[in-house]
Amino acid sequence: MQRELSSQIGELLAYVRENVPYYAGIPIPSTEADLSGLPILERADIQRAGRSLQSLSGDPDGWLATSTSGTTGEPLTVFFDSPPQALEIRLIRRLAERLGIGGSPGILHLTLHAPGPSRAMVSPWGDGNVLTRWNLARLWQLDDRAFAERLERAVAGRILTAKPSVFGLLADRLGDRGTSAPGVVLMSGETCPPDLRRKIEERFHCPVSSLYTMAEVGIVATECPAAAYAYHCEQESCHIEILDGDVLVTPLTNRAMPLIRYRSGDRARWLEGGCRCDRAAPVFELTSARSPRHLLTADGGLVSIGTFMKAMISLPVDRISLAQQGAGQVRIDYQARTPLTESDRERAAAPLRSALGLGTRVSFHRHEAAAFPLADGRPVHPAGTAVPLGPSLEDLSSWLESWCAEHSLTPQAVILTGSVLEPVFRTRFSDVDLTLVTDDPPEAWTGPVRLIRRHLPALRVMITSERDSVARSPLATCRLICEGTPLLGSLPAFAWPASRALATEGVHWCQTAADTLWHQFTDPDTATADTLATAYLAHKVIVNACRYRHVVFEDRQTRAASVLAAELDPAESPATEAIEVACEHRPPPPECAASLRYLTAARAIALTVAAELGDYLTGTNAEDFP
Ligand SMILES: [Zn+2]
Repeated sequence: MQRELSSQIGELLAYVRENVPYYAGIPIPSTEADLSGLPILERADIQRAGRSLQSLSGDPDGWLATSTSGTTGEPLTVFFDSPPQALEIRLIRRLAERLGIGGSPGILHLTLHAPGPSRAMVSPWGDGNVLTRWNLARLWQLDDRAFAERLERAVAGRILTAKPSVFGLLADRLGDRGTSAPGVVLMSGETCPPDLRRKIEERFHCPVSSLYTMAEVGIVATECPAAAYAYHCEQESCHIEILDGDVLVTPLTNRAMPLIRYRSGDRARWLEGGCRCDRAAPVFELTSARSPRHLLTADGGLVSIGTFMKAMISLPVDRISLAQQGAGQVRIDYQARTPLTESDRERAAAPLRSALGLGTRVSFHRHEAAAFPLADGRPVHPAGTAVPLGPSLEDLSSWLESWCAEHSLTPQAVILTGSVLEPVFRTRFSDVDLTLVTDDPPEAWTGPVRLIRRHLPALRVMITSERDSVARSPLATCRLICEGTPLLGSLPAFAWPASRALATEGVHWCQTAADTLWHQFTDPDTATADTLATAYLAHKVIVNACRYRHVVFEDRQTRAASVLAAELDPAESPATEAIEVACEHRPPPPECAASLRYLTAARAIALTVAAELGDYLTGTNAEDFP
């Protein structure tokens, strides 16, 4: 199978000999020969080689860096120039076409880890393809109906790619009804057990296939349409050898950091009898795949699960597995006759905390042998896992309590407000808003607050005394009354501000916000800026402007959900779109003009509210709204 060498390999070898220091002097075999005379590249070789594996020609600024973490620990970084990236899109499109999906349906990659923002772009290689990455961690916070509706709307007709475990979680969340919308489902990045695959096929009601990918290469092979789990080599993308069962790959198009005969860690065998489809490319099946499992650090880095196994096997358990449960949470499933003691749990949790972040929460789940959630002790993502985002209320509360005790601080109250209380409206840019109520002078708290913020970068700490609260922002006082959740102490009896005071502040706030939005709108870089960040700015102005309108004319309520439901027309509009994009409840659109649309919509709302509040203050509406 694939024993004769293509001219592409000859060109690659000639290139690396000239341009890649690591391969200077590498022999160039004749076209009839095979690569067996050339050295095998191990993972450790790549780490040792450092920059000498990178090409001396080409423009490193244009390269894409991809980091991979294997079971052996240290992450590996591979650089790509653009041809392999463009090829990847062509291969996905070609596979989708074979499955009956033509045209330009757009490729939507779904992820479920809290880090990693959603992003969309038109393929820079002039092929008209739209590539979108959609992080579903925030959509996950919606109720089942809203979740399914928004998902269906976004995936309609598209080529979906994701890890099988992500499709599995989606299938569980969608329930028996599933979704009828996507064009095709392409699994990649992990092997998929047959029962999971069956479930995905049942619930997505569309063709399901899989890509054999490696972070170091891109797409290595694609599944045979006639035989599940059989893969056809993608000969345009890479040359594959199977040496004593080990998969060796030689990516053919990447000139930034060429790898030759790289031992991937996967094992496979050629299907010498071929398959029953009409593709001529050699076909093989994987006999074992390296486990891609890893855990996430607090700042989104990857740590191989293998790192922790030494600590885990010293525990009195028969079987154990680790899995990420969203940011900052790790689940340990274990099988043992008696529950782990407190000190055993600490022994297991300590290395996790020191590697992933001190705030990491570790939960333990004991199982009987028969009920253990996996067959071979390898980690799994338990089905039905919720995807929490950032600190929970309980986390913050217990953490703050021990912090204040440790530092002998006794504030009168510490009060939480804002989006941390409404996970549905929380964006990746949102702050955690704390109000510190104390009679101490603010200077006494500068040091402690600085320390607290070092531990929780998204924290925003306001400071006030009960006495001073009348001098504070009227809306901030309304928010303390409506949303305030005391983490320490109890909520002081704040008085509801006068409507005129709220309206006065609202006019100024909305006008200033409109100016800021105009400034942003006319910034020459905005049209090409990150759509998600611009949507967030629009979202923030829309929610706050609506809050002012709501507390002056409607109701004593400041929570985003109630305010938006009452104030904003639910029909599809640039304003509703901006809010959904900011919250990642829908994937961002690829066109850069969307940013401008969102800013315009938010500015119009701010100006309308400013005018209404202005009229109220000058008396036009004063009788209607005393
Ligand atoms: Zn086939």
